Amino acid sequence: HAKAHGRNTFRFYTREMNTQVADRLQLENRLRRALEQDELFLLFQPQYDIHSQALIGCEVLLRWQDPVEGLIMPGRFIPIAEDSGLIVPLGRWVLREACRQMARWRAQGLPLPKIAVNVSARQLARLDFIDEVRDALQESRLPGDCLEIEVTESTLMEDADLASRQLAMLKAMGVRLSVDDFGTGYSSLAYLKRFAPDTIKIDRSFVCDLPGDSEDAAIVSAIIHLARALGMSTLAEGVETVEQCDFLRQLGCGGIQGYLLGRPQDASAIARQLALPLGS
Ligand code: C2E
Ligand code: MG
Ligand code: MG
Ligand code: MG
Repeated sequence: HAKAHGRNTFRFYTREMNTQVADRLQLENRLRRALEQDELFLLFQPQYDIHSQALIGCEVLLRWQDPVEGLIMPGRFIPIAEDSGLIVPLGRWVLREACRQMARWRAQGLPLPKIAVNVSARQLARLDFIDEVRDALQESRLPGDCLEIEVTESTLMEDADLASRQLAMLKAMGVRLSVDDFGTGYSSLAYLKRFAPDTIKIDRSFVCDLPGDSEDAAIVSAIIHLARALGMSTLAEGVETVEQCDFLRQLGCGGIQGYLLGRPQDASAIARQLALPLGS
């Protein structure tokens, strides 16, 4: 309580808050410039079938190479982009760039089934988002089923009716849907039924203490059974050990993504992997 500690403490808080606001504003301005000056780039993290170990897709993860500060991670700038609305042009760029890269891999004859792009609530809420997706696919001559949209539970809940209409249009284009970070939000079963995603991504926080943590094991097992009963596939995020992978396979999980099998990497590293015969 600032008041209990006297006026100096109160002034201290105020100054600190001002600094925070200024920092955010500064970062927002730099981010706007970063988009114009090509300081953003994409990494791709492979997603595998847990049984065949075949590459089933890649998640697209945004990075910012700042000339002064160096590499800036999305955890730091995505929230600012979302608050400021910058996420709209930024997300449009990610979508186009990801589709272009997918087209390049396909032109090289590399068999990657799909790319998964993270989409924020503010993007999905825009009526022209559907056109942006259609344009990005058409520009790269890609069929809709090359693309998966990853949204979180909270994104679906923000304006469920609008999200529902938007996602139905994407579905009609063949675009797939996955629910990201599942289990960390409201995890409404009614929403799961309503939005019928193709894939449920089991959040890393339930995976990291497997197989030892019996509560996490119960939660993950329940998600996998529920998904299967609803005809949805599952993909576990953040798999870092062989033990986690083996355990998830026993539980019936369909896909895995994590440092064990592949870190987020650049497009040429993905191409090299795709060019290798399976198992090598
Ligand atoms: P996410 O969509 O849940 O992405 C998974 C995050 O987990 C990525 O962090 C990835 O690098 C990290 N990760 C993957 N495997 C492992 C593992 O085995 N262990 C650990 N400890 N971490 C792992 P990253 O790249 O820092 O991205 C963080 C978040 O930023 C993403 O979470 C997503 O919500 C957001 N994000 C990233 N790119 C975009 C984008 O283009 N648009 C939007 N709207 N959000 C993005
Ligand atoms: Mg994601
Ligand atoms: Mg996630
Ligand atoms: Mg996340």
